[in-house]
Amino acid sequence: MKNILYCVLLLILVGDAGCFSQEEKTSTSKETSKTTQPNPITLSLPVCTELPMLGEDSSYGHASSLKFLLWPEDKRILYVSFISGSEEIKNKVEAIAKEWERCCGMTFDFHSNNKADISIDFQPGGSWSFIGISSAEKVPSMNLGWLNADTKEEEFRHVVLHEFGHALGLIHEHQNPKNNPIQWNKDLVIAYYQSEPNHWSLDAIERNIFKKYQDLQINGSTFDSLSIMLYAFPKEFTRNGYTTHRNFNLSEQDKEVMKLLYP
Ligand SMILES: [Zn+2]
Repeated sequence: MKNILYCVLLLILVGDAGCFSQEEKTSTSKETSKTTQPNPITLSLPVCTELPMLGEDSSYGHASSLKFLLWPEDKRILYVSFISGSEEIKNKVEAIAKEWERCCGMTFDFHSNNKADISIDFQPGGSWSFIGISSAEKVPSMNLGWLNADTKEEEFRHVVLHEFGHALGLIHEHQNPKNNPIQWNKDLVIAYYQSEPNHWSLDAIERNIFKKYQDLQINGSTFDSLSIMLYAFPKEFTRNGYTTHRNFNLSEQDKEVMKLLYP
């Protein structure tokens, strides 16, 4: 049980998450291994946009507590609204998001007239979500930019479960400092995220990819390769050949941690 306490999670310094979803299918030119010149990696799905950083001097203050972005104890129903989207898509999002309810004490209410805690849009350009309670002050607080009626079921599951994980307070698993096996091939990673279609700044890459949270900032277990909160990274992104895969289901640790966060 003790280990479970340390899994993924809580972002403290920023109230947003740039997430991206990508297929493992990659291609690099043969020259990659012979030179230090980063070669482009082609991914077949768009990469998430990232939101502006709220900043340490924002109303969210300094990040110093794990509970900082968690929904408070007296908040166990999160009201969800849609800004756009077809009924078919909205119903699908609701059904998948509710998988989180089965492992914790939080409930998503998609049909209330109460002010939304989580507001969802489907604008082109990526998928992302604000984290935890920071969602309540943003409209939209979540964008599911590449989901449509033709999206494959597993892709739909990954994106919805992942973004709702953020809305509940989870951070990206690749930024978990505990037993993290990833040794970044930084030149190539930077080249990739600075190029089309991402155009991320160095600062954004640092915050969304390389930065690892301090133990005091997170509440979670050791690195979980099965977490829904893990990006897929090709082996070219790491110096030690470590590769990660996109997951389509909540891992056992995802469920256990969420249960601890919201009993
Ligand atoms: Zn994400």
